[in-house]
Amino acid sequence: MTPEKPTGSTGAAPKISFVSLGCPKALVDSERIITRLRAEGYELSREHKGADLVIVNTCGFLDSAKAESLEAIGNALSQNGKVVVTGCMGAEPENITAQYPNVFAITGPQQYESVLDAVHRAAPPQHDPFLDLVPPEGIKLTPRHYAYLKISEGCNNRCTFCIIPKLRGDLVSRPAGDVLREAERLVTAGVKELLVISQDTSAYGVDIKYAASTWKDREVRARFLDLSRELGTLGAWVRLHYVYPYPHVDEVIPLMADGHVLPYLDIPFQHAAPDVLRRMKRPAAQEKTLHRIARWREICPDLTLRSTFIVGFPGETEADFQLLLDWLDEAALDRVGCFRYEPVKGAVSNDLAEAVPKDVIEDRWHRFMARQQAISARRIKRKIGTRQHVIIDEVGPTVAKGRSKGDAPEIDGSVYVSSRRPLRVGEIATVKIERADAYDLHGTAVGF
Ligand code: SF4
Repeated sequence: MTPEKPTGSTGAAPKISFVSLGCPKALVDSERIITRLRAEGYELSREHKGADLVIVNTCGFLDSAKAESLEAIGNALSQNGKVVVTGCMGAEPENITAQYPNVFAITGPQQYESVLDAVHRAAPPQHDPFLDLVPPEGIKLTPRHYAYLKISEGCNNRCTFCIIPKLRGDLVSRPAGDVLREAERLVTAGVKELLVISQDTSAYGVDIKYAASTWKDREVRARFLDLSRELGTLGAWVRLHYVYPYPHVDEVIPLMADGHVLPYLDIPFQHAAPDVLRRMKRPAAQEKTLHRIARWREICPDLTLRSTFIVGFPGETEADFQLLLDWLDEAALDRVGCFRYEPVKGAVSNDLAEAVPKDVIEDRWHRFMARQQAISARRIKRKIGTRQHVIIDEVGPTVAKGRSKGDAPEIDGSVYVSSRRPLRVGEIATVKIERADAYDLHGTAVGF
């Protein structure tokens, strides 16, 4: 049977418009799909109109993210008409078809092959695969000087507020050799900063019993510590994200102190009150955690700690919340994000205890933010007068914008850099810090 001629086709390579929503992990999925499509000769379109097809990579974590995803699907349908939906929302297709029965295809998260099958049906490739059209490092949606490196999929934890294990399944780790080869390709292609991501970075390798695999002339075990150490030899900044507070995280701090990986730990604590943590099914020894944080800072004084918390978890009392505020004072974390509890459909936590009223959640969120802002401001002021290495993300006519080792892209603050010579994107400059505001630093380049 001859395939139906795709809408909008001009006989040239089919064009795909791509919408990527959600977290950095979803962005990595988008990059993989786009790399495959480009390898098969597809072109990317900046607009839905005139494209042969739209792919929407959705996020289904919170209800607000679901609403944003549904809106993106609606836009794509009205502007183009042929829409393939993938990503987290694809795990529950009935929620999409209830509103948009005419989407072309729906596939779940990480189902790269199914997305490609749907694309082939909707807009068949015009040529044989042009594998050599794609640079060896793949197509990256992030700027060329930093790249996300996904080391595993899924999660073995069962935090009661989270439906990710239901959507994405149990932990599946990539062999260390594969991860290191990808990282090496990225660095060879000009990447200066590798952002290591997964649902639970510190659990890396548990599912494959830490099996060793070959990289270069040696065997590397699929262990968080071993992988971090090897990544640290590649000559790029290595930043660790989404580290669950397991005890063995302590082992990686000396690697940060000696400069192998960045002195930066993104470690979601979620709460501090033991009862709340128990209902969340998260490690509940917060006193011990304070000791550990103090010890980490002794070993690595430059350590930047980023974390996230949830306020208004079912059953959270005023006393629990107070305990959290006091804990924040003691922990003195550098960067903190705070979510208001949302009863995500299908999350076990919704039925564990009585819901906290919305106005109480709102009030607690504001109190939390005010308390933490003062702490973060104090922490950031300590950098005034110091010299920091800054990676340049954007250049302007007089001032460039970059990040210190303590700032991850997209979520943390920036460093605004004046310089007597023009700086280049991706360059790492030494900057003398002169002032700080709530989230950002300002200074002058003193070394290149
Ligand atoms: S560790 Fe993260 S992904 Fe895994 S269940 Fe908990 S919140 Fe969800």
